[in-house]
Amino acid sequence: MWHEGVYALVRTGRRAECTTRKARKEKRREVLRYMYRACNPQRPFLLSSKDNLIIWQSEETYKTIFSNRSEVERTARELVRRGVVLCALCGGLLKYHRSYPRHIQDAESKRENGWVAQAHCAGCNKYPALIPEFIMPYKHYEAKVIESVIAASEKGANVEYLGGCAAEVSTMRRWVRQFKRRGAQAVGWLLSILSDLYNRHVSSLMLQNRTLLKQLARLLREFPKAKKVSVIGRTNIILTTRNCGFL
Ligand SMILES: [Zn+2]
Repeated sequence: MWHEGVYALVRTGRRAECTTRKARKEKRREVLRYMYRACNPQRPFLLSSKDNLIIWQSEETYKTIFSNRSEVERTARELVRRGVVLCALCGGLLKYHRSYPRHIQDAESKRENGWVAQAHCAGCNKYPALIPEFIMPYKHYEAKVIESVIAASEKGANVEYLGGCAAEVSTMRRWVRQFKRRGAQAVGWLLSILSDLYNRHVSSLMLQNRTLLKQLARLLREFPKAKKVSVIGRTNIILTTRNCGFL
């Protein structure tokens, strides 16, 4: 598993040769470079301008105002004004830019139309979309619906015979396939962020014999506590606010 390689590198950063702050910093950079290459040699994993988005943690009530454009705009203005959401590229303050229509679908494929706000960073001249965590980027089904399909598949269920989700079988297969790749990358990023930002090192033994979703859930426990939110939602919040891609 490549993330074990990352773990080994993170550990080397703590060895005696990295006694100075500068040496440790350089070692962490090396880890990041390694991960960057390991994630995907063909396509950089870092966000391109097209994938410029930030996922933020909404309140439970937010879903009820998702279809109300003026409320979505008001919330977005508040988020950027208070600095709850910052530019993932430069860490600078954002400004509200506009909102655009977006729909989501629940497990029964019932469609709900709503709005997503877009901000602007004057420093980078980028326009990140501010996406609440119950939405997955470029997917119509809600994050919790997709997560339940992935969880069932990890337990060995065949998506063809999976009850409780009205999505096409090919769509569910794609979710599972994508998660296998992106989930492994996300584990690597979470390990790196934990080590870099919080100086916490998770043993690879703790991740052994766990499915990808459970590995992510285990790693999330090491992060500062958050309100109840799905594993995918929370992972996406951490990854996108640090410009490390998304699930
Ligand atoms: Zn910026």
